[in-house]
Amino acid sequence: MPTTTPAPGETVDCDEVVIADWVVPVDGSGRVFSPGAVAIEGDTLVDVGSTDQVLARRSPRSTTRLDGHVLIPGLVNAHTHLAMTMFRGVADDMDLAGFLGRVLPAEATVLDAERVEVATRAAAVESVSAGVTTALDMYFFCDAALAAGDEVGLRIMTGPVVLDATGPDGMGPTERMAWASGWLDDHPARRGWRPVMAPHSTYLVGREHLEATRELAAAHDATIHLHAAETLEELADVIGRHGAAPVELLDDLGMLGGRTVLAHGVHLGPDDIARVVARGASVVHCPASNLKLAAGIAPVPDLLAAGATVALGTDGPASSNDLDLLGAARLAALVHKGVSGDPTVVDAPTVLSMATLGGATALGLDDALGSLEVGKLADVVAVDLGTIHTRPVYDPVSSLVYAAGRGDVREVWVGGRRVVRDGGATGVDPGRVADELDALGPVVGSALGH
Ligand SMILES: [Zn+2]
Repeated sequence: MPTTTPAPGETVDCDEVVIADWVVPVDGSGRVFSPGAVAIEGDTLVDVGSTDQVLARRSPRSTTRLDGHVLIPGLVNAHTHLAMTMFRGVADDMDLAGFLGRVLPAEATVLDAERVEVATRAAAVESVSAGVTTALDMYFFCDAALAAGDEVGLRIMTGPVVLDATGPDGMGPTERMAWASGWLDDHPARRGWRPVMAPHSTYLVGREHLEATRELAAAHDATIHLHAAETLEELADVIGRHGAAPVELLDDLGMLGGRTVLAHGVHLGPDDIARVVARGASVVHCPASNLKLAAGIAPVPDLLAAGATVALGTDGPASSNDLDLLGAARLAALVHKGVSGDPTVVDAPTVLSMATLGGATALGLDDALGSLEVGKLADVVAVDLGTIHTRPVYDPVSSLVYAAGRGDVREVWVGGRRVVRDGGATGVDPGRVADELDALGPVVGSALGH
């Protein structure tokens, strides 16, 4: 790793130094450098600090100056279904059962690898343009998603979805588990990425395939990503079938360890929270999806107080209708104040940490992602705080969470690669990507009987 530390008084070459009015490293210290800078060499951050400190130590081959901007770590969308951009807006104003009843049959007729790649490419452009540098995706045709992510520059963590039934990819459960084993062999963990096993939930996957998932994930150091405790109907269903609520069932199955990411966690009691904390699993808060489906509001203040790792997600763009993680952060900061009557809970620094380091920790990648620290991958987002709707800036974290929006994201680096420049994705033609997504509309419409 090119993290040579200069001797006192010495300057060391690097590829790029980015200078901004504020740098918020989200490194646990709460500090802000103003003005600040980060230095990038290859895919790695080699310096972070005040502008004077960084320029005294580094001699960059190129320099980017961003007046009025704040630099933050890349946002981590820790629960989504990227390719569901193709279903955006088809299942509004209904509950989860209604949503699934409408979307699952359409998926069975519409999905193929090519369409998933088109829809994921659009999702990847939307994501990086909103400052998201890493997404934990759950969808079929994961190889198509990885190809789309590479093209755009979004780091997508994905892998086999597990169901008890035959999926839209035509694979039944036995064939699927055999394929999953081979896929995991071919996609070993590497710096800043690990493979994922995604059993949909404890209501669509029974004990047999949950246990098989546990074994495969353990053998490959894979993340386990599933929906859990999203709705009261789910709890009643799972308790009726298994005699235990989702978190208790997962604990009984030995599936609640540090590699497990629970999406939603809306309906968690004190016993569930204690299990999550004791076993080291993470919870991904998806406030926009939970509110839109009227699923409820996750006990995020209780989870944080108990010491749980809490990340943020958008969920898929068919249930929250966008991939706006900064929007989810603001919603999280607001909704818990409203329901608790306590304006101090889930404050701005806390939601920024959930959206960055919390996500990286949930994914088991906090050694490489989630904060602006020397030696980590250079995932950096510049947000313009110089606009009329963000001025004046007394506290850049307050401005970022409570006043800025995803349209203020101007520059994004993923592993040192500039994937957004002046607000536009660099890896693809965004107009062409949008046209290709639109072209899926009639296919989806006819599957829905329009
Ligand atoms: Zn979901």
